[in-house]
Amino acid sequence: MENSLFTCQYCGKDTSAVDYDYLVGVDHLSCTLEQEQNQINPIEKCIICGVDTAYRFRTPIDFRYNYVEGAGQLCPKCGSKDEEPIALDSHRNLFTVSEYTVLSTPNDQELGNKVRQLYWESKK
Ligand SMILES: [Zn+2]
Ligand SMILES: [Zn+2]
Repeated sequence: MENSLFTCQYCGKDTSAVDYDYLVGVDHLSCTLEQEQNQINPIEKCIICGVDTAYRFRTPIDFRYNYVEGAGQLCPKCGSKDEEPIALDSHRNLFTVSEYTVLSTPNDQELGNKVRQLYWESKK
């Protein structure tokens, strides 16, 4: 196959029809850059099940959830302490989240974390 000379080594796709500006040798420019990025700043894998987490190597620990100090990064599934099935009456149980919590937390993930924290506090 003559086309096999024009194969991106990262994604394995044929690059013979790709504009030269978007290639590095016969590899996609985008794939090459991604590869470089992954080498400098790789995606952290869950230390238990090995799936990619939402974080990269250089993500500060303060910005992460499910990070176990001294051990490493967990995925949301392995990091979740709440393994029990959802109780049938839980849709009737309410707890309070202040407007201030919502308004003062522009980051949705952070807000989600705060809401969950409030939930656990309401269970004490
Ligand atoms: Zn590619
Ligand atoms: Zn995991």
